[in-house]
Amino acid sequence: MANFRFKALEIAQSRQAQLVAAPAERVADFFGSNTFNSEVMRALLSPEAYLKVTEAIQTNGQIDRGIADEVAGAMKSWATSKGATHYTHWFQPLTGETAEKHDAFFDITIDGKAIEKFKGGALVQQEPDASSFPNGGLRNTFEARGYTGWDPSSPAFLMDNGAGGKTLCIPSVFISYTGEALDYKTPLLKALNALDKAATAVCQYFDRSITKVTPTLGPEQEYFVVDRALFYARPDLVLAGRTVFGHSPARGQQLDDHYFGSIPPRVNAFMVDFEFEAMKLGMPVRTRHNEVAPGQFEVAPTFEEVNLAVDHNALLRDLMDKIAERHNLKVLFHEKPFAGINGSGKHNNWSMGTNTGVNLLAPSSKPKETLRFLSFLVNVVKAVYDNADLLRATIASAGNEYRLGANEAPPAIMSIFLGESLTQALNDLENKSEITVNKGDNVYYKLGLTRIPSLMRDNTDRNRTSPFAFTGNKFEFRAVGSSANSASTMTVLNAIVADQLNNFKSDLDGRLARGEKKELAIVDILKEYYVHSKRILFEGNGYSSEWVEEAEKRGLSNIKSSPEALGVFVKPESLSLFERTGVMNHAEVESRYEIELEKYIKNVQIESRVMGDLAMNHVVSTALKYQNKLAETARNLVELGMTDEAEPIKAILREISARVIAIKSGVESMIESRKRANNVDNTIDMARLYATEVKDHFDPIRYEVDKLEQIVDDEDWPLVKYRELLFVK
Ligand code: ADP
Ligand code: MG
Repeated sequence: MANFRFKALEIAQSRQAQLVAAPAERVADFFGSNTFNSEVMRALLSPEAYLKVTEAIQTNGQIDRGIADEVAGAMKSWATSKGATHYTHWFQPLTGETAEKHDAFFDITIDGKAIEKFKGGALVQQEPDASSFPNGGLRNTFEARGYTGWDPSSPAFLMDNGAGGKTLCIPSVFISYTGEALDYKTPLLKALNALDKAATAVCQYFDRSITKVTPTLGPEQEYFVVDRALFYARPDLVLAGRTVFGHSPARGQQLDDHYFGSIPPRVNAFMVDFEFEAMKLGMPVRTRHNEVAPGQFEVAPTFEEVNLAVDHNALLRDLMDKIAERHNLKVLFHEKPFAGINGSGKHNNWSMGTNTGVNLLAPSSKPKETLRFLSFLVNVVKAVYDNADLLRATIASAGNEYRLGANEAPPAIMSIFLGESLTQALNDLENKSEITVNKGDNVYYKLGLTRIPSLMRDNTDRNRTSPFAFTGNKFEFRAVGSSANSASTMTVLNAIVADQLNNFKSDLDGRLARGEKKELAIVDILKEYYVHSKRILFEGNGYSSEWVEEAEKRGLSNIKSSPEALGVFVKPESLSLFERTGVMNHAEVESRYEIELEKYIKNVQIESRVMGDLAMNHVVSTALKYQNKLAETARNLVELGMTDEAEPIKAILREISARVIAIKSGVESMIESRKRANNVDNTIDMARLYATEVKDHFDPIRYEVDKLEQIVDDEDWPLVKYRELLFVK
């Protein structure tokens, strides 16, 4: 086995960066060239069809069969002209991966004639035999009828299948026979719609020309890259996506030399390659750099409308997986592939834009716009404060559990960072005593709103330890896991803000009906909200233990375990929020809860099994062999009469024995815990047992194994070491 490790190392070290031909054209010439975008539609569709589709995209409207037939025809001829042979509805089932089932555009009849299979009907709706996707009890498998339905708001695109041919991928929703959502996209679209309605209504108090609000998302994706040969020599990486053992290398991230350092050539070639492909697929990837940990990197696109950004992030991760193969690399999207160094997140930068081109979270230099800005800002703060646990639920997963609360990641406590000047502005607002506005007064002046714009202009505060930070003109939710589909978080964030904006509107309407002056009424309400929510604001170091204590004093929750965090989904207040906003019905939420718990159980179960196997078959067996070698040496020394010299060797022998015994009993007891957990017949209790009894065995077993790694001869050690995984590429 050690041979396997050295062979892998030899291969890894001999690899060179692949030459990637830089695109000859300008970005504008190939950007989106693999998407059926509006430019292509304008060229290929009749003006009427083009108008109908564009309208449907903007209003989430229906597309009738005639138009669908025309669009399908255009899509097909566009796709086949670019080498596509198949099409698929591309959707995001609750497994968290993307799914596709390819069908050929044509079929051959018995008499050898080609008949067309892709018409409007096939574009609009498909019935994949998708019975093995998780449904949390929504759909009996014997009645395996789930439908996928075209989402025109996300452009269809061409995927290269690698070995041969291309497939036209049609972004779709996935719903059950009875109309319930079985995917991530359906509730997301509903939440975005709810936010649009609520935010537009609020905008109307400030500017009548605002008729549409579009939430925006720019997800910064972190990931690790390891050599392909080394990856396959680590069964834990292959099966669980993370290393369950591995002693920290002498040099980790303490030098901070990796961050923004020069990118290793092989990784750079990989980046150039996938960015080029991503841009052809219409993804505006913009920045690339090293991250804090050795072997860790980040890719960030320019923000887009949320639904599109979510699709693009899922597609980007898919693409990166595929392109990495060309470079003999493997991408790790797991939240915590390596202990002792930073894990990976996906910072969700979020804001709201209007049809008039205004970013509602951008401070303005005009006092009137400042009031609008503060309205949105404070409503977001209140929404997050009131629903912190629900937001926390969306980032709960087995992988993210290693990150949240670990010392270099945002804690599981939801807090908001606003920065000094903004906090100051809100405090001023709070402390403003009753004011009266007389005829001819400048109401904004009286409210102090003329001062705020200049206050905020050079707001350059940065706080990298806050899970939910205001960063100048957007909020950045940093606690989302790197492997997560952002849809879950975005669904909840947009739903809670929509709900809060609805409350704001009715509070304001109430006051206006009583004859209060609009600006004063708004400020009063914002004051109330601010006072109500301000204990969620925190400007200090979110990674410190003081904050954990302080947050507890403030009564903020700190839900560390995933099963407990997920439980918030099905609390009565959450169920009614989802229902009120039209995002999900009870059955849909409950099925999601069930699926997330099952995913959690399976992940911990796999890790636990991998750990047991590796510990016994790789580590203990190697340690015993090494023990034999040592025993022989000791015996030889004694035979030569060198009893004293044999003593230190015997001490090592004793240490190895003790550790081997500890590992063996740890693994046995972990297997017992697994059995007990597996015998429980309800999902939540099973998940709880996995989160506690089973998982509690991980650290003690790992401790012993990592100690053995330091004792056993490097020549014999079978598992690729951290220093090799992180530094060889
Ligand atoms: P950093 O957080 O590293 O300072 P940037 O300012 O470059 O980064 O932005 C990070 C991400 O935030 C990018 O993906 C960017 O597109 C996104 N972003 C910027 N403005 C908005 C916005 N209005 N809505 C959503 N995302 C945004
Ligand atoms: Mg950022």
